[in-house]
Amino acid sequence: MKTKNGFTLFEKNSEIGPWLKKQKVTRKITRLQVHHMDLPNYSTWEKTDKKVFSEPHFGRTQSLNDYGRRTWGREASDGHGHYIAQHFNVFPDGKITTGRNLNSTPIGIRGWNQNAICIEIYGKFDKGHDKMTKEQKKAVIYLYGELCKRFKIPVDTAHIRPHCWFTAGGSYLGKYNSSRSAKTCPGTNFWGVGCSPSGFNKFLADIKEYVNGKEAQASPIDSEFKPYIAKVNTNGLNARKGPGVEHDIECILDKGVAITIVEEKKSKDGGIWVKGKAGYWVNKKYMEFVKFI
Ligand SMILES: [Zn+2]
Repeated sequence: MKTKNGFTLFEKNSEIGPWLKKQKVTRKITRLQVHHMDLPNYSTWEKTDKKVFSEPHFGRTQSLNDYGRRTWGREASDGHGHYIAQHFNVFPDGKITTGRNLNSTPIGIRGWNQNAICIEIYGKFDKGHDKMTKEQKKAVIYLYGELCKRFKIPVDTAHIRPHCWFTAGGSYLGKYNSSRSAKTCPGTNFWGVGCSPSGFNKFLADIKEYVNGKEAQASPIDSEFKPYIAKVNTNGLNARKGPGVEHDIECILDKGVAITIVEEKKSKDGGIWVKGKAGYWVNKKYMEFVKFI
């Protein structure tokens, strides 16, 4: 994580959650907006940003801020020295920068800015244009997922909406309409499916999976769990300090070693992990059931 001129750059997705937790947000947040930048697009990123700015994420963020000040003047001020319309920018390489202060209303969707957080995804995701990179897609899921958790926002279209479901005047259409929508934003091929209600739902399903996955992390699988003995069925099995590959390795187990299993949990990625009596965790798929004790 780095900061420059009051903007923060997240270099890893895992930095977003802890940062959000630390922010003092007094404004009520109940809505998340979905945008693509349109211009700049992926070609701007490669041919301009990476060449002209010493640090392209900060360079582009500053440039968007300057644009805001030039275009809207003092009216766009967030009260903390920034004029950029949005709260977050998600870049093609999966890095994210902050924009305006979370306590200030964004300039994103007319009629739907109150209580909203505005997120701009760098690129042009209309049919025949940019195809979202894997890194960017992952960062988008993380950001929306962490925002939903932080502000307890339900993952549905009452609370998360794309720009193109509104007219330029701010009327809500509830779907993209080529003749009535303000823009195609976040793109007629957003998420590889576009912004029809069923297409946009695919995006929401990915956010929902992230939010639910994190919740399931700490929950026991079965309250009726009975301890049992199991044998390691592979060589060099990593035994970890917690249920999931993100935890440190405590020791390595050889094939055939028998362990008394005292607990089972779902890991973040949905796998099942079991805890041995000695306190370490292993992935259940590498264990062979022997008998209940
Ligand atoms: Zn937009």
